[in-house]
Amino acid sequence: MRVHNFSAGPAALPVEVIQQIQEGLLNWHGIGYSVMELGHRSEAFKTILEETKANLKDLMDIPDDYRILFIAGGATVQFATIPMHFLAKEKVADYFDTGSWSKKAIKEAKKYGNVNSVTSSADNNYTSIPAESEWALTPDAAYCHYTGNETIHGVQFHRVPNVGDVPLVSDMTSCILSGPLDVSRFGLIYAGAQKNLGIAGLSLVIIREDLLEQTNDLVPSVLQYNQQAQANSLLNTPPTFAIYVMGKVLKWVKAQGGVNVMAELNQRKAGKIYEAIDADNFYNNPVEISSRSLMNPVFRLPTKELEASFIQEAHEADLVNLRGHRSVGGVRLSLYNAITEHSVDTAVDFMNHFAKTRG
Ligand SMILES: *Cc1c(COP(=O)(O)O)cnc(C)c1O
Repeated sequence: MRVHNFSAGPAALPVEVIQQIQEGLLNWHGIGYSVMELGHRSEAFKTILEETKANLKDLMDIPDDYRILFIAGGATVQFATIPMHFLAKEKVADYFDTGSWSKKAIKEAKKYGNVNSVTSSADNNYTSIPAESEWALTPDAAYCHYTGNETIHGVQFHRVPNVGDVPLVSDMTSCILSGPLDVSRFGLIYAGAQKNLGIAGLSLVIIREDLLEQTNDLVPSVLQYNQQAQANSLLNTPPTFAIYVMGKVLKWVKAQGGVNVMAELNQRKAGKIYEAIDADNFYNNPVEISSRSLMNPVFRLPTKELEASFIQEAHEADLVNLRGHRSVGGVRLSLYNAITEHSVDTAVDFMNHFAKTRG
């Protein structure tokens, strides 16, 4: 009944998670109503919140001096609130410009202060992460921001950039939990939930405690990291259902074996897609091989007409949401944790068949 959904976001959830949600929708754990109707200050909801934090801490091996916050709104809200908190007038924030999401984060930060572009791949249409020898880091920057995975251009950092003592801030919306990460390297990690963590309406923020001292009273209270840390993310009504779903997704990742198992699976899934792309000259991925995204492989076909037929015929074969982002066109297969290897194999068979009959 369900099709292979390669949507970039909101993205596919593990089917087991949807079933668990469905089971609790009318009567959750015998309380006679659902989590959607459960008060955020109830003991039952606090248990959900604490379990979700504990599972995330465990899965990501988050050190004790970090706080986990649930903030309403998407990652785009964080584009603004990060500079509002940390970018004082006399300071500079460093930003890597490696794709559409970095560009948006930079545009937002510039409203609040000075931004230095560490490096930019805009001139080659965002098809690589420029080499470290080309980076211009500011030694006393307020922070340094990078986008872990560029969801639209299909470009990913496969190593955490070394920025010295400057607090490292990262948008991990489309790669969080896709593999292991040394959280201790970061000042702040944020991620909208609708790609690898659950459903829309919620962002996760993981912040090192010393950064909570840097605040700005002009930031709305519900978006202030220190206030939300003190209130345990319950300053006002949080997106309770989205937190509940994230809790289910985290338990699912744990049951699969955790982030190392996810990393192996993701390598294998993306490997199969890139192998199909590279098989001959029919498909073309423009991204430098070492910067290719494991989460969002993108590719072009020889003509726009062929791309349209590919997407249409794929849809008829139950492979849906393959259209590249409207700003870049082409084809994109988003391969977040919830995408099964079976879905990937089905897509690869389709790609090979299409190339053979149309190439
Ligand atoms: C999807 C995405 C965003 C935007 O998230 P919203 O929740 O729509 O604000 C930001 N950054 C990255 C890397 C994304 O993939």
